[in-house]
Amino acid sequence: MSTSAPAPVAFTASHWHGTCPLGFDTIRPGDVVQYDDGALVHRACWQREQPRPVCPKCFMQTALNGACGCEDQ
Ligand SMILES: [Zn+2]
Ligand SMILES: [Zn+2]
Repeated sequence: MSTSAPAPVAFTASHWHGTCPLGFDTIRPGDVVQYDDGALVHRACWQREQPRPVCPKCFMQTALNGACGCEDQ
């Protein structure tokens, strides 16, 4: 069993929910959403807000899997 950080449960919005407070865009039926501190937000908007790991070599933010382009050489 994994004990990694619990990710918020994402689900598909079933009706109009108003404005997503993270992206300031409208949550429509069919959008993939989740709760963030009790507010319904888009999963994509939430993921964009998450801090990304920083590469120790070039100090650029890396991809979510920690990969950085500077290590391709
Ligand atoms: Zn949004
Ligand atoms: Zn790098």
